[in-house]
Amino acid sequence: MNDQSKPPRQLSCADDYDPNSMAVDKAREVIGRFLAPIATVERLHVRAALGRVLAEDVISPLSVPAHDNSAMDGYAVRFADLKTDAKVTLKVIGTAFAGAPFAGAVKPGECVRIMTGAVVPEGADTIVMQEHVEAKADQVVIDGGHRKGQHLRRAGEDLAVGQVALKRGVALRPAEIGLIASLGIAEVAVYRKLRVAFFSTGDELVSIGTAPREGQIYDSNRYTIYGMLTRLGFEVIDMGVVRDDPELLEEAFSEAAATADVVITSGGVSVGEADFVKDLLNKLGEVVFWKIAMKPGRPLAYGKIGNAHFFGLPGNPVSVMVTFYQFVRDALLLLSGRNPVPPLPTFKVPCVSTLKKAPGRTEFQRGVLERDSHGTWSVRVTGEQGSGILRSMAEANCFIILPTDQGNVAAGTLVDVQVMEGVV
Ligand code: AMP
Ligand code: MG
Repeated sequence: MNDQSKPPRQLSCADDYDPNSMAVDKAREVIGRFLAPIATVERLHVRAALGRVLAEDVISPLSVPAHDNSAMDGYAVRFADLKTDAKVTLKVIGTAFAGAPFAGAVKPGECVRIMTGAVVPEGADTIVMQEHVEAKADQVVIDGGHRKGQHLRRAGEDLAVGQVALKRGVALRPAEIGLIASLGIAEVAVYRKLRVAFFSTGDELVSIGTAPREGQIYDSNRYTIYGMLTRLGFEVIDMGVVRDDPELLEEAFSEAAATADVVITSGGVSVGEADFVKDLLNKLGEVVFWKIAMKPGRPLAYGKIGNAHFFGLPGNPVSVMVTFYQFVRDALLLLSGRNPVPPLPTFKVPCVSTLKKAPGRTEFQRGVLERDSHGTWSVRVTGEQGSGILRSMAEANCFIILPTDQGNVAAGTLVDVQVMEGVV
């Protein structure tokens, strides 16, 4: 099932890459050439739209605020009545409340008691905070030194009628749904949720609840993938574990591609295994197998099966998460309609650990960003970095990204860190 707005182009057109040593950026760029946002739009009540992606610009149907109003509790005055360096006495002729405006006009020598949010009465152009006046009976004494127009929120200063309040492609967070409500809009157009099917491959895998036999292990990738997809707000279709059996795999790939926009698998793409999966995927669609110049996460497959996009991730649990964050996350956000796709926050901090690194591949080491008692941030590496050591991911809150040409890193060096989804 698919409604991509651009027809799929042949992967073979992407001829300027080296499948045996693809640079990380190059692989991202090649994948990007095949992506176009889903086109189906649905209209939802603003609350139900929380977390969804806006499919059309939201145009303001009104001025916000609708009227000039007071930003303070105080007195609405005519600035011309005030003196720069002397006190003046004004007559209080009434009160303006938020939601209950003062009906008359303020004439010279007069003022109106005004509450925050109340409409500024005709004739007044300045608000004096109540802390700056001496109130006695129906008069107030106001000191000098005020500025014309102070403490006044102007009609339309937030949004003018017809102005774009929110752009298509933004994700609706609490701030956005509040803004939409402030415009009196009850329903918005959002993209339907991206449907992502996933399964694990491997004869050695058992699901929790089944006792592993000698040599068998529990499937963890389906849980990390489930978690990462769910966090991003997609509709997930968990297809379980599929054994390394061509018939079962063919059935699973076909079913997944028929029901989802994207199919993600883990395992079965490393050398040896890939040959057999390769034949199958060549039969079902058009898929390329890459060795990415990265660590961890070297093998990666990308392509189309029918109209569905396919990501074949490595089997190692850490590699799955690294390749997901480096390639899959941004691709899925683009497909889901996000525009622009927000990158994971990346910045430089000093690394307090010594890092082992050989030039030749981009490395994504697992790090812990932390703040010392003086408020200074630094990063340290989480112990062992083996691609099967999922604990290193559980302890981490960031990736330390070491560029291709980088060698060993001495303690104290500035390094690039990328904060993981959900940390901020
Ligand atoms: P593969 O890429 O299929 O050769 O798998 C590489 C390594 O990752 C092997 O040690 C597998 O046992 C392990 N592995 C593969 N799939 C999973 C999974 N779903 N959960 C945990 N470990 C896995
Ligand atoms: Mg395997």
